[in-house]
Amino acid sequence: MRLVLVGPPGAGKGTQAVNLASHFAIPHISTGDIFRSNLKAGTPLGLEAKSHMDRGELVPDEVTNKMVKDRLSKDDVKPGFLLDGFPRNVVQADVLKAILEEKKSPIEAALELVVDKNEIINRLSGRRTCKNCQRAFHIQYEKPAKDGLCDGCGGDLYQREDDKEEVIARRLEVYSEQTAPIIDFYAREGVLISIPAMGAVDEVTKRAIDALAARSGSNA
Ligand SMILES: [Zn+2]
Repeated sequence: MRLVLVGPPGAGKGTQAVNLASHFAIPHISTGDIFRSNLKAGTPLGLEAKSHMDRGELVPDEVTNKMVKDRLSKDDVKPGFLLDGFPRNVVQADVLKAILEEKKSPIEAALELVVDKNEIINRLSGRRTCKNCQRAFHIQYEKPAKDGLCDGCGGDLYQREDDKEEVIARRLEVYSEQTAPIIDFYAREGVLISIPAMGAVDEVTKRAIDALAARSGSNA
């Protein structure tokens, strides 16, 4: 299963990525992890990325693309992979398509997590994170046992800058300008599967697995 996961910030992409990768026994490849491992190992790409970051610049697409290409050439992706956080725009989607065309192993499904905008604002602005262990809670859906304190380590909970309502609104705008067009891209490729991502995490995972199974069944 070669899978791309797409969805706005707050759609629960990270959690679903972990669940689906484990269900299909494929590596979960997130751009964040690729960056961290290249930086840690001090690879030429990692050093190049670091030189931009040290100057306070964004890492150019070109460097990110090379890191993704490099990651997709590792042996563990032979049974498939789940990409999370890439592609982030149509240019990257084209790059990915070219990388996979070389290997004659195209993306089989782009799974879109569909969440209502108000629901996203509600989910993210209610999130509280432990200062100590980074565990996330939610003031409505996943309340800590004691107000303002982490269940795991007793650390103070706070609202990350990213989770403030005005910041969320801006992130959603960036998403609809840059990332949402890749949904059309994968629709044209005939591999788009959209599922509602409301409700409990496990229900959404099940919905995703069922939709992906139905798709591979219909291709067989
Ligand atoms: Zn904690």
